[in-house]
Amino acid sequence: RAKANGRGTFCVFEPEMDVRAQERRSLEMELRSAFANEELELYYQPLLNVRSRTISTCEALLRWPRAGRGIVSPGEFIPLAEEMGLIVEIGDWTLVQACRQAVQWPQQIRVAVNVSPMHFRRGDIVRSVEAALKDSGLPADRLEIEVTESVLLEQTERTRHALGELAEMGIRISLDDFGTGYSSLAYLQNYPFHKVKIDRSFLSGLDDDPQRLIMLRGVARLSAELGLAVTLEGVERDDQLAIVMADGYVDEVQGFLISCPVPAEKLGRLFASRKEKQAAA
Ligand code: C2E
Ligand code: MG
Ligand code: MG
Ligand code: MG
Repeated sequence: RAKANGRGTFCVFEPEMDVRAQERRSLEMELRSAFANEELELYYQPLLNVRSRTISTCEALLRWPRAGRGIVSPGEFIPLAEEMGLIVEIGDWTLVQACRQAVQWPQQIRVAVNVSPMHFRRGDIVRSVEAALKDSGLPADRLEIEVTESVLLEQTERTRHALGELAEMGIRISLDDFGTGYSSLAYLQNYPFHKVKIDRSFLSGLDDDPQRLIMLRGVARLSAELGLAVTLEGVERDDQLAIVMADGYVDEVQGFLISCPVPAEKLGRLFASRKEKQAAA
């Protein structure tokens, strides 16, 4: 423990830390066995194209239903899986499952899969994607890979190469959570992105900070003018939708207003109800 704090620092022993380390170890073991027993699940959240008013994509989002303790969110267990080195295996599984689901959907609907930066570093993402497409029979142009900026911060050449190869295969690449990290607008130009997903913090911050709107509109416009598709995350209310629609730079919206993430079995009904809404509009 003292070692983790670095050389020259003292570490006062606290029993609490021991308990926490134990809890962590047991959580790791639980996650490992949950994954091995195929207990992880994928939920799906639609992205609505605001021009056609149809669902263009569904994003796969991991869930861990933990026996007797409700559902653990990926925000909690993905970082753990990354530290454990389990994320590459989880990522491979996710790709296969998501592609198998997507072949059952109407043809115009794509599936989006989040890929951890560690997958780019430690795994062979190109091979994994090829394997998932082959296994499922899903055409490459119906798969979107979402990466966050953090993937671009390290191992630039390797990452650029992998992203380039994926794009050449016909896969769409999205820059996820744009505006949260070390967002550099240069990334938009230097990598083969098809889509920018503007982080929901822009929208959730609007009420407190009017400047966020200026930023949001600017980022949306810039992305659109660079030829990228623009998705806005975290749309929860009608008035938020109205604000962003005004400029016409946003192509797609995602958020609780449209639908929260749902288990795969519920997608059929969601697709059908969207069609009805569209017919009624
Ligand atoms: P993300 O990729 O940005 O996914 C969107 C997150 O925002 C999801 O959280 C979703 O439930 C949530 N969300 C969607 N609409 C709204 C809204 O209107 N309001 C609010 N407050 N939240 C909304 P979730 O499912 O908890 O996932 C969190 C993050 O975990 C994801 O962020 C993604 O970075 C990561 N993640 C999820 N699944 C995977 C996966 O299979 N692999 C990897 N590597 N990461 C994943
Ligand atoms: Mg995402
Ligand atoms: Mg996102
Ligand atoms: Mg986000």
